[in-house]
Amino acid sequence: MKSWDAIVIGAGIIGLSLAIELRKRGLRVLVIDKGEPGREASWAAGGMLCDSPYETRPELQELAAASARMYPEFVHELEDESRLKIDLRSQGTLVFRDASNASSNSPSAANSLPAPLADLEPELHPNASTARCSTFFLPERCVDPRDLTSAAIAAARHRGVDFSSGDHVLNVEITKGPASGVCTNKTHFAASIVINCAGAWAREIGPYAFPTRPVKGQMLCVVMPEKELVRHVVRTPDVYLIPRSDGRMLIGATSEEAGFDKRTVVETIQKLRQSALDLVPRLADARILEAWAGLRPGTPDALPILGATATPGYFVATGHYRDGILLAPITARIMARVITGESPQFDLSKFAASRFAA
Ligand SMILES: Cc1cc2nc3c(=O)[nH]c(=O)nc-3n(C[C@H](O)[C@H](O)[C@H](O)COP(=O)(O)OP(=O)(O)OC[C@H]3O[C@@H](n4cnc5c(N)ncnc54)[C@H](O)[C@@H]3O)c2cc1C
Repeated sequence: MKSWDAIVIGAGIIGLSLAIELRKRGLRVLVIDKGEPGREASWAAGGMLCDSPYETRPELQELAAASARMYPEFVHELEDESRLKIDLRSQGTLVFRDASNASSNSPSAANSLPAPLADLEPELHPNASTARCSTFFLPERCVDPRDLTSAAIAAARHRGVDFSSGDHVLNVEITKGPASGVCTNKTHFAASIVINCAGAWAREIGPYAFPTRPVKGQMLCVVMPEKELVRHVVRTPDVYLIPRSDGRMLIGATSEEAGFDKRTVVETIQKLRQSALDLVPRLADARILEAWAGLRPGTPDALPILGATATPGYFVATGHYRDGILLAPITARIMARVITGESPQFDLSKFAASRFAA
């Protein structure tokens, strides 16, 4: 009978990246997902890798910057092991920020536009909603999260990670003291290490109710009338545009407290599309390919929950909210270190599950 050293609950980008990292360290790993691997928040995301100090929470800045630096190598390794292509773009981001929001954390001269806006994005038309905004440039990357998760699944399989799909974990078994496995709706799996990477659903897995909640995001994808109609990621107070190298463009996204409801609302999608059209009128010719909603794993303080729990052998890596695609490489690295008894090399106290204990 097959046995495993570690069970990862959840095959989103966080669980997949961690499973690969643990496997690299020689552990036998089983990933369990209640559905098809990689089809929840990690599939729904935009894929902006926002690590700038102007837009990232100060508490997350160190991890965000470290993870952004890891990205090219992270993608290269996944491509190599999966034989799949991942669309990682480095054109940078044009940010329109409401000038009345200016703070001490405002962008510096280094972030001024490298060329006139009309040269950088000739089809972009500042409008009523951006008129009061200051504009700056961030040298951020963006990635296609669906490419990324597909490659991570293939790379994990290639490395010998096992998967059990359609198995809903009900609780982690801790009755004899340390973690000894998990109980699903169908069966039981044994391992002395268990990691809860269940995203927005992490709180539903007993015995600890980590305070995660779903934060719904609706978005749509169009095919640009010309492949390079827009080249940069563009963020305004109303909408963001994320072009892909194959000529698609993502337009997002809402942020809603709507429980686990993943339905899209026609009026909301139309509103997002209209905001995009106001910015780039030629998108009127763009064909709508798809609209969807996903559930970001939110927490009360909008910071992730990372590290050990009160039970030896039971760990948690969830609550990545808006930044889980960005934070996947660093989360995998530091969690693998914590699990194998090494120093994580970062102060994780502000992310500890125990901060919610009171
Ligand atoms: C619209 C939208 C736009 C976004 N844009 C960005 C962006 O631009 N940049 C960025 O960095 N991040 C972005 N995010 C956030 C990012 O998608 C998430 O932070 C990230 O995907 C979280 O990954 P995860 O693996 O924790 O969760 P998920 O991808 O949701 O994976 C959790 C997995 O756990 C499984 N699971 C849950 N409960 C159980 C159970 N009981 N038993 C077994 N399996 C279970 C689920 O089926 C799921 O597959 C966006 C999110 C949304 C919704």
